[in-house]
Amino acid sequence: MGKNLTSRAEDYSKWYNELVVKADLAENSAVRGCMVIKPYGYAIWEKMQAELDRMFKETGHQNAYFPLFVPKSLFEAEEKNAEGFAKECAVVTHYRLENDPDNVGKLRVDPKAKLEEELVVRPTSEVIIWNTYKNWIQSYRDLPILINQWANVVRWEMRTRLFLRTAEFLWQEGHTAHATKEEAVKEAELMNDIYAEFAEQFMAIPVIKGVKTESERFAGAVETYCIEALMQDGKALQAGTSHFLGQNFAKAFDVKYANKEGTLDYVWATSWGVSTRLMGALIMTHSDDRGLVLPPNLAPYQVIFVPIYKSEEQLKAISEKVSEFMQQLRAQGISCKYDDRTTHRPGAKFAQHELQGVPLRIAIGPKDLENNTVELARRDTLTKEIIQMEDITGISKELLSDIQETLYKKALTFRDTHITEVDNFQDFKDLLETKTGFISAHWDGTPETEQKIKELTKATIRCIPMDNKKENGSCVYSGKPSNQRVLFAKAY
Ligand code: AMP
Repeated sequence: MGKNLTSRAEDYSKWYNELVVKADLAENSAVRGCMVIKPYGYAIWEKMQAELDRMFKETGHQNAYFPLFVPKSLFEAEEKNAEGFAKECAVVTHYRLENDPDNVGKLRVDPKAKLEEELVVRPTSEVIIWNTYKNWIQSYRDLPILINQWANVVRWEMRTRLFLRTAEFLWQEGHTAHATKEEAVKEAELMNDIYAEFAEQFMAIPVIKGVKTESERFAGAVETYCIEALMQDGKALQAGTSHFLGQNFAKAFDVKYANKEGTLDYVWATSWGVSTRLMGALIMTHSDDRGLVLPPNLAPYQVIFVPIYKSEEQLKAISEKVSEFMQQLRAQGISCKYDDRTTHRPGAKFAQHELQGVPLRIAIGPKDLENNTVELARRDTLTKEIIQMEDITGISKELLSDIQETLYKKALTFRDTHITEVDNFQDFKDLLETKTGFISAHWDGTPETEQKIKELTKATIRCIPMDNKKENGSCVYSGKPSNQRVLFAKAY
């Protein structure tokens, strides 16, 4: 197909960019930093959405939709949040264009159509939502509110990369309101657990659950929980975040509720989100130099059938068989597709499905019809076998679950062999030169040290793991006392 990829070893970043485009997942658009998600990429995102949506609903959440624009005065209401996002905001100032009198055929902003108040395109929706919750909450009977929205947001990022960091991205954002602090903290932890479960069971990506340090925390949050994943190049990726917002937004919007005794108190909040960045995580965790490798649980189709024929008659006979197999597979909940395009030769089809990471490929030719066999190829291991037609459903089912598990285990082994404990700063720096991954080291707990380490090494504290053991030691940089290790890494 002439679609050879740059290898990962040669240039990981180039490999990624080429793969996203060649596997037909997404492409750049006329707007810098904004991407077009193509049907094959969108199909994977839809699968992610479907599973997450199910998990949210199973834990009592409902979907709703709030507007794209935030009046600037509302945006300013929660100071820290406003300050944190200010530099990334797109702002609408006018609502109309007109013909440019000095430049025939061109349009200009109509100076008479200046908005009385500028509108911020949401970089996140806390303020618009809390301004609404204010009207919904009076008493403890109105709580909790457990709402999620699927939406796009805009953050004017300077350095963008397809899926991983874009100026406009798709995501879900949960926004909940609670009567007590304990309940809100529990909710923030629960949603982080759900993200971890989704990453591991569906994306086949092992993640570390943790909390962020103060300087990496979401603007306006009291605590940020996160899941951190490790990509094949040894760089970390923040794959999801869940925030305990305390009473910050309730105070900003004066949202109080009357408890059973009739006294008024501010409401407690959480928010949590995962974005199309997960697509980047999926690609970077499993794919190889031949293209995408998709975990069966998220593949747009798990089995692709390719006919090999010379005559119309042969194609007809093969097609009849394939249609039977597809019915049997679908009855077992296996998704499949028949690539009967007459415009492409089998070799080109094989190459495309390999590049696009279809977990299983089944080829059937005239010889197979005679012998009652098919050729089954597995994308993750690139192995092939001849199997009996009557075994297609059983073997496919078995292999799909084996592929899912194998991908997870492989990623887990990689992750676990890329966490290194380090006890002095020279080793810390040396290690970053030779081997990437997470560095587990003591830190004195101050933002100054964190900043210094970042300046000197580009490594940041990815998280303080949830399951951390207390251990007395001294800070890898300052030598001051520390009672636990944290995870450092260079990150996307
Ligand atoms: P936040 O609201 O900052 O906690 O982010 C919520 C989720 O969106 C996290 O999983 C982030 O990793 C992800 N995210 C943040 N910025 C971007 C971006 N520019 N492009 C894609 N995903 C993003």
